[in-house]
Amino acid sequence: MPDPALDFPGSWDEIAAARAAALRVTLDLAATRHPLTCRKLAEAGLTRADIATPADLARLPITTKAELMARPEDALLDLDGAAVPEEQRVTWDTMHTTGSSSGRPTPFVSTTSDFWDILILQRRMLEIRGVTQDDRIANLFPLTRHPHGAFIRVLHAAAALHIPVVSALPGNPGPGFAVGQELDGVVHTLARTRPTILWGVPSYMRRVVARAGELGVALPDLRLVFVTGEGLSEEGRGDLLARLAAIGAPDARVSISYGMTEIQGGLVECAAGHGLHNPHPEAIAIDVVDPVTHAPLPDGEEGLILLSHMRRRGTLLLRYAVGDLGVRSTAPCPHCGRVTERILGTPRRADDLTKIRGMLVNPVLALAAVEGVAAVRDFRFEISRSGALGMDEFVLLVVAEPGVEALLAKRVKDAIGVTPRVVLAERIEGESWKAKRWVDQRA
Ligand SMILES: [Zn+2]
Repeated sequence: MPDPALDFPGSWDEIAAARAAALRVTLDLAATRHPLTCRKLAEAGLTRADIATPADLARLPITTKAELMARPEDALLDLDGAAVPEEQRVTWDTMHTTGSSSGRPTPFVSTTSDFWDILILQRRMLEIRGVTQDDRIANLFPLTRHPHGAFIRVLHAAAALHIPVVSALPGNPGPGFAVGQELDGVVHTLARTRPTILWGVPSYMRRVVARAGELGVALPDLRLVFVTGEGLSEEGRGDLLARLAAIGAPDARVSISYGMTEIQGGLVECAAGHGLHNPHPEAIAIDVVDPVTHAPLPDGEEGLILLSHMRRRGTLLLRYAVGDLGVRSTAPCPHCGRVTERILGTPRRADDLTKIRGMLVNPVLALAAVEGVAAVRDFRFEISRSGALGMDEFVLLVVAEPGVEALLAKRVKDAIGVTPRVVLAERIEGESWKAKRWVDQRA
C-alpha cells in the first residue's frame, strides 16, 4: 500500500501543491508570531497578504547565518495560545550548530511535529542512498557537549526504516564521560557487529578504516560508507575506496551528504556524480539566487543557496542563506528519476578564497592535493603571521611516515601556487567533532 506521506512525490505539481498548502498555514502563524518574519516583512514594506504563494517568498529579504546566530530566539515560532494541534506546540528537542569562530553554538528547536518530519527526511535520505531493510548501520559520530544532529539523527534514521544500528561512541567529550571508546575499541565493535554501512565524518572514517587494515580486521559486509560534516574531494573519495578494498570491501560505495543543521539531515547522492538530492521537497525548498541582488537564478547558474521551511513549528527559516554557493537542477534525476531539487557538484563556501603571501588561493584545491596521498593519515593546514617580518607562515601539519614531505609540498604548490612548510606530527588535536583542515590564525 503506498503511503503518500512516505513515498517520494512523483511530480513538481504534487510538490508545489504540498508546499503551497503548508506555507499558507505557516505564514498565517509567522506573520504575527515569528519575530524574524515580522522584521523581514517590515524591512521590505510588505504584509502577510503580499506573500500568497511559495514563489512570492522571493519578495522577502534573505536571512543570513550571522543574523540567526545573533538572535536565534527570533527564529522561533511563538505558538503560545495558538489554535494548533498539541504536537505542533510541544518542544521535542533542541540541537545545535557545530559552533563557529565566535564559539557559541546556535540552538535549533524542533517540535514534535517537526521531529515527525525529520523521521520522514531521514528515511528518505536512506532510501535515496540505496539502503534496504537488510542493512545494519554503524554510527561513528562522537558525542558532543552540545546536542548535535549528527550523532542523534543516525539513530532516528535507523528507527525510521526499522533497521539495526550500533553506536561506536568514539572519543571523549569531557570528564565524567565513561562509555566512549578509543580507536581500537571502535574497530573491535565493527568486527563484532559486522555492519553493512559506516556513517561518520570522512577524516575519522579514514582513521578507522586504516586502523582496521593495520589490525588485520576484515569488514567484508560493508557496502556503503556515508560521509558528512566535512568536504570530501574526489581524491579523498578515491583514497577511502582503496582503504576499504584493503579490508575486504572492494565494492563499497562512498556516499556524500551535504549536511545542514537547519534541516537536521542532509542533501544526499543516489549515486556519485548525480547531485545532492533534497530528500523532503514537500517540507523544504531549495533556491539559488544571485549573491549580490538575491534575485532568483535559473538552473545551472552558480549562486547563493537558500533554504525555506514550509511547515516547521519550532525554529523556522524562510529564504535562509546557508553560506554556500552552488548550482541547482530541478530536472528529474537522470539516475534515480526522483523529482526534487539537486545541487550539482560540490557547494563551496561563499567566502572561500583567501590570500597567502599575496597569492589568491582556493583552500579546497589544497585539501584535495593532500587527500589524494594514501600515506597521509591526518593533516591540517595552518596559516599565521609568524613568518619573518610578520609574513604569512603557511604550514601543512601531517600524520604520516617520514619521507612524504617533499611530495606533499610539491603537490600543494602545483595545486595553489604556494609551497607549505610540511611538518610531521604524532596526532592532530581537534576542538570539535569535525576535523578542521584549514585553520587561518591571521584574523
Ligand atoms: Zn538520483
